[in-house]
Amino acid sequence: MRKPVIAGNWKMYKTLGDAVDTALALKPLVANANHCEVVIAPVFTALKTVSDRLEGSNIKVSGQNCSTEKSEGAHTGEVAAFMLRDVGAKYVIVGHSERRQLYSETDSTVSFKTQAALASGLIVIVCVGESLAQREQGIAENVVSSQLNGGLSGLTAPDLDRIILAYEPVWAIGTGRTATPEQAQEMHAFIRRVFAERHSSGAAEALRILYGGSVKPDNIVGLMSQPDIDGALVGGASLQAESFAKIVNYKS
Ligand code: PEP
Repeated sequence: MRKPVIAGNWKMYKTLGDAVDTALALKPLVANANHCEVVIAPVFTALKTVSDRLEGSNIKVSGQNCSTEKSEGAHTGEVAAFMLRDVGAKYVIVGHSERRQLYSETDSTVSFKTQAALASGLIVIVCVGESLAQREQGIAENVVSSQLNGGLSGLTAPDLDRIILAYEPVWAIGTGRTATPEQAQEMHAFIRRVFAERHSSGAAEALRILYGGSVKPDNIVGLMSQPDIDGALVGGASLQAESFAKIVNYKS
């Protein structure tokens, strides 16, 4: 039985004070959400304080990115995965489409980051997804499978239970345009098949695959009713405690 994960990606929003206020407002609203893992990803500068203030709650904290480097060194502006762990993060998001598009991250970058994050003991949320042009050309599955092959290269069996995938069609991120539950299910089932071929059917069966792309309180139930959708990576609707709590509490 796969435990769903509902993760909020706060992107480059919120000062430290705003991040703490949102996290503290969220805490009582999701306190009874035992059906899923609840994760929020504030900016680096808020991670330590937010994580401390959520100590003992059921909300875990994630980084939004990490360095490709496993150890400290002369890499101005970078933050290593083990440094995220050091300030209380349990998860890290890698390969988000905004990183790929705006910061030229490639599948090889994603692979290095994934390896660094695993080495530091973090759970890694690896994002994949096609653009609108790629979907319209009918190559969405090819794109996603090559992102999986490149981004997840070199994983060993013990790594697999610390990998979560997020299918985020680029055309649905921040656009208000959501994939239909059926479109998302079709790609999630495909990802699970690819994972089974690469690893094993047991590993594929245990893999959590989150959907991301304009998830809102009014579409989460339809998405979560699909057999291969194991949670959501939520951007815009995670910025307010009330709307994110409604998504987390989709079962009630
Ligand atoms: C995201 O940032 O991962 C995301 C899915 O954003 P949004 O929910 O705003 O589309």
